[in-house]
Amino acid sequence: MAKGLFVVYTGNGKGKTTASLGMAVRALGHGYPVTVIQFIKGNAHCGEHNLSEPFAGLLQFHVTGKGFTWKSENLEEDIALARAAWDLAARTIAEGKVRLLILDELTYLIRYKMVDEDEILEAIGKRPDDMDIVVTGRHASEKMIAAADLVTEMTEIKHPYSQGIPARKGVDF
Ligand code: ATP
Ligand code: MG
Repeated sequence: MAKGLFVVYTGNGKGKTTASLGMAVRALGHGYPVTVIQFIKGNAHCGEHNLSEPFAGLLQFHVTGKGFTWKSENLEEDIALARAAWDLAARTIAEGKVRLLILDELTYLIRYKMVDEDEILEAIGKRPDDMDIVVTGRHASEKMIAAADLVTEMTEIKHPYSQGIPARKGVDF
C-alpha cells in the first residue's frame, strides 16, 4: 500500500471542514475507522457530532480547547489546552488504528505559535502507510503546504454571511 495521504484544506472560503467530513463519509462507507479532532471548540450543536452514536466503534469526535484565540484572557491556559489537544493527535497517529484522521482547524495552533510547527509536521510525516490525514483551517503555512500531498484552497466568491444571513442548521453546523 502506498503511504497515506496528507491533505490540507485551507483558504478563506467555506468548505474546509465540510470537505473533510465528506472524506469521513466515504471512509465510513467502506467500514474504515475515522477520528476527528477539532482544535477550536466548534458549535456544540454541529450535526456531525450526532453521528458518533450510530457509527459507534468506527467514528470518534474529540472537541478540544475552549474556543481559544488571540482574544483570550488566559493565554497560558490556552497553550496548555492546545498542547493537550495536539498530544492526543500525536498519540492517534502513533497508535495507527484509524484509516482517516481529521485535524480540524489545526492550522491555528501553528499560526498562533501554540505548538511547534516542526513537531507537528514531523509527527504527520510519520503517519502509517494506511492512514490518511486531513488538516483544515485558514492560513496553512508554507512549510505545511510543502509537506502535504494534496492542498486545496477554498476561495470565497460569495458567502451569505455578507448579506446578513445567519449560520444555517444543516449547512453551517
Ligand atoms: P464549513 O465548516 O462550513 O466547511 P469552513 O471549515 O470552510 O466551513 P471555518 O473557517 O472553519 O470554515 O468556519 C466555520 C463556520 O464559519 C461555518 O459555519 C462556515 O459556514 C462559516 N464560514 C466559512 N467561511 C465563511 C466566510 N467566508 N464568511 C463567513 N462565514 C464563513
Ligand atoms: Mg472549519
